[in-house]
Amino acid sequence: MRVAHSRSELRTQLLDTRGSGSDIGFVPTMGALHAGHLSLVRAARDQCETVVMSIFVNPLQFGPGEDFGAYPRREQDDVEAAEAQGVDVAFLPSVEEVHPPGRTTSIDVGELASVLEGEFRPGHFAGVATVVMTLFDLVQPDKAFFGQKDAQQLAVIRRMVRDLAVPVEIVGCPTVREEDGLALSSRNAYLSATERKRAMVLFRALTAGKDRLLEGAEVEEAEGAMWSVLSSVDGVQAEYARAVDPDTFRAPSRERVLLVVAARVGPARLIDNLLVERDE
Ligand code: AMP
Repeated sequence: MRVAHSRSELRTQLLDTRGSGSDIGFVPTMGALHAGHLSLVRAARDQCETVVMSIFVNPLQFGPGEDFGAYPRREQDDVEAAEAQGVDVAFLPSVEEVHPPGRTTSIDVGELASVLEGEFRPGHFAGVATVVMTLFDLVQPDKAFFGQKDAQQLAVIRRMVRDLAVPVEIVGCPTVREEDGLALSSRNAYLSATERKRAMVLFRALTAGKDRLLEGAEVEEAEGAMWSVLSSVDGVQAEYARAVDPDTFRAPSRERVLLVVAARVGPARLIDNLLVERDE
């Protein structure tokens, strides 16, 4: 595996690949790698000849008072895990390599970026879209792999790529979970043993919502069921529990409903989602 720290190192390391016409799969991450990230690498390896992973904690997507400073950084372990998983090029740039000082340009996908996560984290998706577009320009991948775990982020990226005619195929990959249902997340590292047990409530809430929908309930009822589970545990501060369309994040059809939840558990703000499909 080759490791690049700068734009020019990345360009040099990808010259052969581009010259040989081999296709590039790209996995952008913020590091503190876990099995969820590594499942994206496996998908990329299955579909592409060369796999590039970026490990970059992007300051633009953190709001004031959020955990940018505390976000786990484990570069050495990450490089070893990426290599073991078959990544060909790891890109670990500094902030200045990605965002030129004084940068003022940013990408706003509109309303999709201002609801739910966008409401609780103003500016978050502009930060995400801007860094992903920049990384796409640097890596020039054929395909890019994102987790369904961050469903609204995936929808934002798909929208950006469609609206700006970006020549990258976006591949969504299933959420990897712990045995009790908790979605893997770098932020789970913030949880104490007690908080880790409490965090199970996000998946329990989603499951309650899914059960209600499969019994034929209206979406409002499913939202109520999720909210009451999510807000029933001491030490868990529920933020939202909603049923939305998976592409627009507006009111869903009866057939395809994305259940989304967010809650604070101790120092960690956690999100999760579940897609429910009903025929009719
Ligand atoms: P992050 O490092 O948290 O920015 O995540 C990098 C990529 O990994 C994003 O596309 C995430 O959606 C994806 N990801 C994070 N957690 C999981 C998970 N539990 N299962 C699958 N993909 C994940």
